[in-house]
This record gives sequence, structure tokens and C-alpha cells, in this order.
Amino acid sequence: MPTEHRTEIAVVGAGILGLAHAYAAARAGKRVVGFERSPKAAGASVRNFGMVWPIGQPSGELLQLGLRSRQLWRELLDATGLPYLDTGSLHLTYRADEAAVAQEFAALAPALGYDCVWLTAAQVLEKSCAVQPNGLLGGLWSTTELTVDPRQILARLPAFLAERYGVEFRFSTVVRAIEPPVLYAGEELWRAEQFLVCGGEDFETLYPAQFAASGLTRCKLQMLRTAPQPEGWRLGPSLAAGLTLRFYPAFGVCGTLAALKARIAEETPEMDRWGIHALVSQTADGALTLGDSHEYGLAVDIFNKATIDELIVEYTRGFLRAPQMQIAERWYGVYAKHPEKTLLTMDPEPGVRIVASPGGSGMTLSMGLGEKTIREMGIGI
Ligand SMILES: Cc1cc2nc3c(=O)[nH]c(=O)nc-3n(C[C@H](O)[C@H](O)[C@H](O)COP(=O)(O)OP(=O)(O)OC[C@H]3O[C@@H](n4cnc5c(N)ncnc54)[C@H](O)[C@@H]3O)c2cc1C
Repeated sequence: MPTEHRTEIAVVGAGILGLAHAYAAARAGKRVVGFERSPKAAGASVRNFGMVWPIGQPSGELLQLGLRSRQLWRELLDATGLPYLDTGSLHLTYRADEAAVAQEFAALAPALGYDCVWLTAAQVLEKSCAVQPNGLLGGLWSTTELTVDPRQILARLPAFLAERYGVEFRFSTVVRAIEPPVLYAGEELWRAEQFLVCGGEDFETLYPAQFAASGLTRCKLQMLRTAPQPEGWRLGPSLAAGLTLRFYPAFGVCGTLAALKARIAEETPEMDRWGIHALVSQTADGALTLGDSHEYGLAVDIFNKATIDELIVEYTRGFLRAPQMQIAERWYGVYAKHPEKTLLTMDPEPGVRIVASPGGSGMTLSMGLGEKTIREMGIGI
């Protein structure tokens, strides 16, 4: 007979979405237990850039959610004492069509709710010593991006939530089934009032029929990390460049984008084939995280492609000037992705909410999403 326990809110998954939901429910005064199948979180949340990146969100609901999430992130990070970089971001341009998109976006941005401006090449170089000056035309400077170190965050947030809010965690514990009001986790049986499923790209263990009908698929991203940079060398703002302007939906408002996309498709079709755009962030130990690519499909290729890594590094060298470019680590990550919707929730039965990963924006939107779910489900009201 399994041992029986009680809580008010049960959260499946201790990735960033699970932690954000546990945090929101605990702040609403609820008794919360989190379940994680791995000994420590090993999913998308610990494999990412750690970028809280509102500028990538389209204007309107998602941008507002991103900005609210950023505010909640800052409150949480200040409370935990975990380090973060409040450095903003730069989208660098080296071609006239890239500069045209960045300048058009800068002109539209204030009315749409973004806090960003166009900087000349000289102004960009004042903001960052890490920018490659050769051929630089200028860049889009945005103030709202934060960087956290995902490894630190995922390792240390559970202990903080336990200490500050009494959230209990069960690691190395698979949730096998939910039959409200009961949840089966490993050898334990838990009774709860409400259940939040934040299982990332696991579509098979819980509610497989709902996932199969949802339209969700998987996206694989290849990532690299340099060896730590010399003591004291700082990246400054996180960096992106021309390829990124065609990737984030925020820039879809720009009439000049079509020409940029067409030129990239013609000149470097391999970048489109592998969904490559290049971002650079810095971790707490000073290393630089580089990426990424996008390969879609339920069956993830477990073998990384050397070509993709080479394309990412070569392109990044075009805009990044760092003392240490030796690659120390390579890995891939996978997130759940819906072809059209960034936010996807499912309520398979009363009291149960599945919150699917918001694709490549989970780190950005997590805290805001946790708050949104708690409000929508009337938790703590
Ligand atoms: C390489 C990469 C780079 C990215 N960069 C960024 C970025 O810089 N900024 C940004 O905003 N977003 C980024 N993203 C997206 C972001 O990382 C994801 O959207 C987010 O991490 C998803 O969080 P999650 O908690 O839903 O999933 P996960 O982190 O995958 O966590 C899900 C957890 O649930 C557990 N689990 C699943 N089923 C069960 C079960 N039945 N019982 C117990 N445990 C279970 C899993 O073990 C896992 O730990 C990136 C993603 C990747 C892969």
C-alpha cells in the first residue's frame, strides 16, 4: 500500500515553469508540493541561455506578460540573493537591410511599449567592449533584458522556496497518474485540491491523449559554452545580431523585414534550414553561452550535428570579440512548441491544469505565467 499524504497544491515538474507556479501558489498562501522525476532538474530550463528577454515578445499581451515576469523575476532574485545581470540587450547590425529593420523597429517601439533605441556604431562600442567593430553599422539597444545563470537558479530555487515558503519537493519521483483528488507519485499517494502539470516536453506520462490532440511538437536546440573569460572581462549587454531579427515575432511589425529574410534565405540557406540565429549571454562564472538552432519534430535526433555548431560559432565570431573563444561545453535542449500559440494551457479535468512550455520564451514568461495561472484558477482567493 502506498503511503498517503495531503497538500493543497501539487505541482508536477521542477523546471522553471514548475518552480514559478510553486512560487506563485505559495505566495498566495497555499501549501505546495513539487514533484520532479530527475534527481535535479535536467530539462530545458537548465539548458538555456538564462535570458529574460521581453524584447522578443510581440507587442500586446505577451510583451506585457514578459515585462511583468521580469519584474517578478527581479523581486525573486533580490529575495534569494542569487546573482543576475541587469544589462539589457543589443541587436547588432552589419548589413544595410539589418540596420533598416533595427531602425524601423526603434521608431515603432515606444508606441508599442518597448524601451529601446537605435544606437550608432560608436554608441554601441561605448556600451560593450565585446562587440566586433569591423563593419558595424549600429544596433538596437534595449534596457529590459536580464540574464540569470540557469544552473544556479534551477539548483537553488527549490531550497529557497522550501525555506521561505515551506514548499516541499520530491525529487527522483515520477508522477505516474493524476485522478483528482489523488496523485500517484513514486510509491506515494497524495491528496490535493488542485494540480498543476508543468512537465515540459513530456507528452507521454500524464494525459497523453490531450497532448496528442494539442498540436504540440518538440524543438531541439544545439548550444555551446566557452571556457570562462579572463577575470573581470564582462560581456555587458547580451548580444544578438541580424539573424535574430528574423526569428522573434516582435520584429514582424517591420515592413523592412521581408527583404532581410529574402536575402538570408538566398545567401545562407543553411541558416534557415537549421533555424540558426545567434545569441550570446554570460554565466555567473564568466563563460559565454552561445547558440542556437531549431529542429522541429516529435522524434528528437539524439546526435548533435557538428555543422550546426560550426555555423553558430562562425556567425557569432562576426559580431562577438571575446578573449576566450575555446568551446568548453556542448549540449542540446528540447522544449515543447506549438506551431501557432506561445501560451497553451489545457484543463483535462476539474482541478487540473496543464501549462505547456511557451516554446523558446519559458525563462522570460515563467514568473508572469505562474501568477496568471494562479489568478485564473482562483488559487488563494
Ligand atoms: C537550449 C535552450 C535555450 C533556451 N533559451 C531561453 C532563453 O534564454 N530565454 C527564454 O525565455 N527561454 C529559453 N528557452 C526556453 C525555456 O528554457 C523553456 O520554455 C522552459 O525552460 C520550459 O520550462 P518547463 O519547466 O516547462 O520545462 P523543463 O525545464 O523541461 O521542465 C519540466 C520538468 O518536468 C519534469 N517532469 C515531466 N514529467 C514529469 C512527471 N510525470 N513526474 C515528475 N516530473 C516530471 C521533467 O523531468 C523536467 O525537469 C530555451 C530553451 C532551450 C532548450
